Amino acid sequence: MKLRRVLGCYGVLFCLCQTSAKFSQSANEIPQAERRKIAIVGGGIGGTSCAYWLQKAAGDSIDIDLFNYGKIGGRIATANVNGKRYEAGASILHPENKYMAQWTEEFGLHKQDSPDGVGRMGIWNGHELVFEESDWRWVTFFRMMRRYGFDLLKLKFHITDMLAKFSRIYRLQEQGNAFDSTVELITAMSEDFTPQLNVTLRHFLKEKGYHDVFINELASAAENCNYGQSSDELNAFVGSVGLAGAVPDLWAVHGGNFQIPQKLVEHSKAKVISAKVNHVAKTADGKYTIRATDENDNEMDASTEYDAVVLALPLVRDSLSLSVEGVDLNKHAGPYQQLISTFVRGSPRAEAWHKTAETMPDAILVSDTKLFYKSLGQWVDVDWSKGEPIPTTGTDRVWKVFSVEPLTNAQLKALFEVIEEKNEVRWLAYPRYPLHDVPKQPTFTLSHGLYHVNAIEWAASAMEMSAIGGRNVALLVLRDFFGAKTTGGDHGASAAKPATEL
Ligand SMILES: Cc1cc2nc3c(=O)[nH]c(=O)nc-3n(C[C@H](O)[C@H](O)[C@H](O)COP(=O)(O)OP(=O)(O)OC[C@H]3O[C@@H](n4cnc5c(N)ncnc54)[C@H](O)[C@@H]3O)c2cc1C
Repeated sequence: MKLRRVLGCYGVLFCLCQTSAKFSQSANEIPQAERRKIAIVGGGIGGTSCAYWLQKAAGDSIDIDLFNYGKIGGRIATANVNGKRYEAGASILHPENKYMAQWTEEFGLHKQDSPDGVGRMGIWNGHELVFEESDWRWVTFFRMMRRYGFDLLKLKFHITDMLAKFSRIYRLQEQGNAFDSTVELITAMSEDFTPQLNVTLRHFLKEKGYHDVFINELASAAENCNYGQSSDELNAFVGSVGLAGAVPDLWAVHGGNFQIPQKLVEHSKAKVISAKVNHVAKTADGKYTIRATDENDNEMDASTEYDAVVLALPLVRDSLSLSVEGVDLNKHAGPYQQLISTFVRGSPRAEAWHKTAETMPDAILVSDTKLFYKSLGQWVDVDWSKGEPIPTTGTDRVWKVFSVEPLTNAQLKALFEVIEEKNEVRWLAYPRYPLHDVPKQPTFTLSHGLYHVNAIEWAASAMEMSAIGGRNVALLVLRDFFGAKTTGGDHGASAAKPATEL
């Protein structure tokens, strides 16, 4: 049986435009300005993207201090199994993720080739494999059409349309458009997206005439393994982003996705301060100071004054470890979904899915959101290159299991007959999207000179989304502190003034 890298299965996706134009500086150029000092808190893709764009536009007019707790990359990180590194957090990029693709090229990195062959994915509903790919493409196609019929065609049109609209953001940002709120940014891509933020994915698909079997199996499995949430919880926009991953040519960065934020921070010339920020205070003349503790928990010097502070981290409701003088961050915070990536080197218990070792799919996506695991699939390491052998049988295969809670020994035993090695990574992975839970007005601008990149996550969370959020906040800083001419409401994609509430 040929093996694939199960990319298609875990595809969080994201969209972008087809153009291969290099980033131009034209629209983001700024008039000669007074030197400004900016603090960015958070060294994931959102914070490092913001630093990169600020440096690109403001050059020597800007000094950036980037505070980060832990490794640069945040939720983009690898885990070691048997001496090799595997993507433990954000793994998959969509073929149309423009920023991630262009940075890969600009920084001399390479896309990792997928292993040959189609591999096989199966959808498990808790009792049976309701759908299974074949080694033969046409058999897979026939099975898909027989089970999901024209809903597949409808999905293809929906995703194509969505990607085309989504890709407008690149032009808008290139032209210097900046948005104070998430809803404004999403509406600027297309007014069709705005109502999608306010209905569940199930409601949206039902209205479009999709059948229950499609919603309960294919859509549910895709969302469950991507976001660990159901079609009744996810808004239709993030749900569509999840479904857009059902395309070929998903990719990753050879050597690890974390290299992108690392390179971004290098190119930004930001001073990286390895510290946890606890409090942001305001001075009498409207500047900001930062109280932080270093890796040994020692208080750091807090005398530096900043013109602006960019928060590039999730604000997790009721467990905020960071406060800002005069701003109630809880109003901008929401719940986050825990997800556990458990790597197991060993062999799965094929009979758990009524299979034999030979017939077992390479990836199992679970459509029943109440089951104790969300997905299970074989992975290759980040340094794997085309032509290198990949074990297709035996106990040297490496499997990644997603679950909401850590797997107990009994649960692991139910899934694997041999466990040679186990490595577990815990994440607060994504916002929890139930409509009543999300902040009512996710905003990038929290107050004058204070910004929040991750407001974008309340529309949808992914590497490319944070990269877009980072650029948006850079544009806001350029507008507010460097006199850059940016627009927000009049962006040409939408005539009406967008609503600002979810
Ligand atoms: C298991 C998992 C799988 C995923 N799969 C995909 C995928 O396949 N494709 C995809 O596109 N996306 C995926 N994602 C989502 C993706 O990882 C995120 O959307 C994206 O990486 C978020 O980047 P960020 O910079 O906004 O936030 P983070 O990456 O969370 O960065 C925030 C940074 O701020 C630091 N920080 C926090 N508080 C403080 C403080 N007080 N002081 C200083 N520093 C602080 C953190 O340590 C961290 O380094 C996945 C996420 C997870 C967890």
